Amino acid sequence: MTATLLDGKAVAGEIRAEVAREVAGMKASSGAVPRLAAVLIGDDPASRVYVRNKIAACAEVGIRSEEIRLSASAGRGEVLETVRRLNADPDCDGILVQLPLPSGHDRTAVLLTIDPSKDVDGLHPLNVGRLAMRLEAPIPCTPAGVVELLDRSGITIAGRHAVIVGRSDIVGRPLASLLLHRDATVTLCHSKTRDLPSMTRQAEILVGAIGRPAFLRGEHIREGATVIDVGINRLDDAARVASLFGAESPRVKETRERGYTLVGDVHPGEASARAGHLTPVPGGIGPLTIACLLRNTVRAALARRAASPGR
Ligand code: NDP
Repeated sequence: MTATLLDGKAVAGEIRAEVAREVAGMKASSGAVPRLAAVLIGDDPASRVYVRNKIAACAEVGIRSEEIRLSASAGRGEVLETVRRLNADPDCDGILVQLPLPSGHDRTAVLLTIDPSKDVDGLHPLNVGRLAMRLEAPIPCTPAGVVELLDRSGITIAGRHAVIVGRSDIVGRPLASLLLHRDATVTLCHSKTRDLPSMTRQAEILVGAIGRPAFLRGEHIREGATVIDVGINRLDDAARVASLFGAESPRVKETRERGYTLVGDVHPGEASARAGHLTPVPGGIGPLTIACLLRNTVRAALARRAASPGR
């Protein structure tokens, strides 16, 4: 079997086009244009790329955006004051603080400070609780992207056994809630799970959100399963890249020239041989995460500005 690739880029393009239409409609009806503030603390290279991509994606759909950079050594007061200033700014609709934060920063304090109505990542405890209670809430962008991709690719969720490996607050836990709301039977695995392959082999939908390159191998995958690879890992070892993609793969050249290539949490060759459907890395869940962020931003703008007309 060779798995059919699920084209995250194409589905993300559909969502972006829908968002662009919503932004244009909002502008036409009220004159207002949504505005997103992205706060980047420190200079982690991957985080810089993510923020740059988000800012560029905003421009493409007509959302205004601003990148606010703080040094990794910024104190708690400066970070929280930045968020409070954005909370108070009537012309700011969405606030995202790029995660992970540099060590020493208090992620919970930052998330608690964001105005829940501007929380476009859906990580404020109030919104996490609302999602758990199936009330309207901004849905964390990566889990939202996974569900969009399944839906728009015609993959049934209800009644299926979904196994998620990884229980982080931004991916695994909210995705478990979403899939449960959609009537999947959900198993959430983590680093203390015993006999992981026997768990994951039960999955009709298997999601890897671990942060370890090519960790999920053929032995973890049920024949014909839909495999969603959330992982984005920078791999700089050309020999390892060659073992994953083949010595002649352009990935090996890319690793030598750029210093790394992006690899998911799923072994690409072994998964392709066993899965029915598979997301590529890059070009799978990454673009969907950004598309869902744009959608959350326009929804936040519509809701907030409707609540206070004139904004
Ligand atoms: P975290 O580090 O927060 O969580 C990793 C999870 O994997 C933890 O729950 C951990 O278990 C589990 N885990 C670690 N080792 C093992 C193991 N040996 N067996 C089973 N489970 C294990 O990562 P994130 O959720 O933030 O990110 C996961 C991956 O997804 C990363 O590669 C990240 O770059 C990528 N990502 C991609 C996004 C996208 O847009 N495509 C967006 C966000 C993340 P435990 O809880 O027990 O420690």
